[in-house]
Amino acid sequence: MSTGGPSSDKFFANAQPVRVGVFGGAFDPPHWAHRALAEAALSQLGLDVLHILPTGQAWHKSRVLTPAQHRLAMCELAFGDLPRIRLDAREIHRQGPSYTADTLRELAGEYPGAKLFLVLGADQLLAFKGWVRWPEVLAQATLAVANRATNIGADGALDQVQEMDLSAVDLPFERLQMPLKNISATAVRARVERPVSRSGALDVLVPEAVAGYISHNSLYQIHS
Ligand code: ATP
Repeated sequence: MSTGGPSSDKFFANAQPVRVGVFGGAFDPPHWAHRALAEAALSQLGLDVLHILPTGQAWHKSRVLTPAQHRLAMCELAFGDLPRIRLDAREIHRQGPSYTADTLRELAGEYPGAKLFLVLGADQLLAFKGWVRWPEVLAQATLAVANRATNIGADGALDQVQEMDLSAVDLPFERLQMPLKNISATAVRARVERPVSRSGALDVLVPEAVAGYISHNSLYQIHS
């Protein structure tokens, strides 16, 4: 994985516009569905590069996030071996609230003439018209959306889950094909918080290296 913006002329040598993916999230922690979504975007959109952008304190999340250095380190562990990935910390370093519209504007300047794809799960598509300056986001990037299970529980079980219903969405978007994964960061945190005897193995929800990092740094434990 590399960091930062385009580093060489190779991005601009092709006649085709560069295809740049943008995948933001709290990644608190990054889990298997995030990784599957990144892989689907890389292959199905034919991306030249996929920026992974951990959020700062996201304006739409009421929960206080785990410190950014931990989320960045876990993203490195979760995505670092994938090709054409850039771990991009700009939203963490930005002063004040951080909006996707600003990130896309910056990336458009860094990759002149590129085609930008914003990679999302279905829950974020359903919430999209609540985003700050969403028409600007839509004007700058093509939405690329993977479906998501509706009844996400803490156990990661896949029985009786359903896809989110996107039939009423009146926004243009491309679909990413990905097997439904009943995983959320909320479920991962809940599993860590539970007594060991009741918890299953964490690495069915997160890559083994992320599970090791969580354990080593005692993240998501309830301190009494
Ligand atoms: P939390 O449970 O804390 O709300 P999360 O699991 O939704 O977190 P985020 O970091 O908020 O994780 O999500 C980043 C992006 O990944 C969002 O676009 C979200 O829709 C997508 N995503 C997360 N989990 C899944 C999943 N199981 N299937 C498809 N997309 C997902």
